[in-house]
Amino acid sequence: MRRRIGRDAQHSEWGERSDRGPLASTGVATDSPATEALCSGPRPGARGPGPEGRRHGHAKGQGMIVESFPVAPLGCNCVILGDEERGTAIVVDPGGEGPRIVARLQELGLQCEAIVHTHTHFDHIGATKHVQEATSAPTMIHEADLFLYEGVQMQIDSFGAPFRAPEMAEIDRFLAHGDTVLAGGLEADVVHTPGHSPGSICLTIEGERPVVLAGDTLFARSVGRTDLWGGDTSQLVDSIRRKLFALPDETLVICGHGPNTTIGEERRLNPFVGER
Ligand SMILES: [Zn+2]
Ligand SMILES: [Zn+2]
Repeated sequence: MRRRIGRDAQHSEWGERSDRGPLASTGVATDSPATEALCSGPRPGARGPGPEGRRHGHAKGQGMIVESFPVAPLGCNCVILGDEERGTAIVVDPGGEGPRIVARLQELGLQCEAIVHTHTHFDHIGATKHVQEATSAPTMIHEADLFLYEGVQMQIDSFGAPFRAPEMAEIDRFLAHGDTVLAGGLEADVVHTPGHSPGSICLTIEGERPVVLAGDTLFARSVGRTDLWGGDTSQLVDSIRRKLFALPDETLVICGHGPNTTIGEERRLNPFVGER
């Protein structure tokens, strides 16, 4: 059983390992070269549409909060899914800035009941420990990414980043394709989408306006890179075409970095996996 400590727990993430500056503690633009270097494939230059509305219809007629914001160190989009009525939430990809994520949950009046990772590249997991300690929520990854989770310092070193790995949260649950993550009235279904990493998953939320949290698998007019630790291009293309493009065209896609898009737009216009 994991030792839990109180809400006031502070945890420092991204300790600097040298005197090379404050990169570790400042946000980096989501389309920075560093972000692309770690997470995305080649970009054709086209950018997707701007962020869309944050509140979406919910299957049961309740208000569902979908809020995403980029966090340090590399602008990974952390997503808060909230059930407004029951005050419960799922936090997806707390890449950094734990205190900010916890503060936002409090502002929204939400109790986090699950912490889910679309994959375990280091820019998606840096604040997991902080959020876990502050909320006591269970932490979830796909088991095929465990080697990356356990090798976070290796990732950072290969990337040449000037900081040391944060203390890592314990994993409470391995997610598999077809699993559902529950939090109050929220239901997020797990779709295993290997390619960017072996344990990459997407989360789909049904409703009036369906939503998919695509991690670094699919971006607006781009796709995740596949040349890192266990990446596989044919798997990535297959994951997107067979599993994500099976979703309704109007599905809102919240990407692991950069702007939102929709399944229909990417099916038509994505230069790497689209129809054109
Ligand atoms: Zn990323
Ligand atoms: Zn990634």
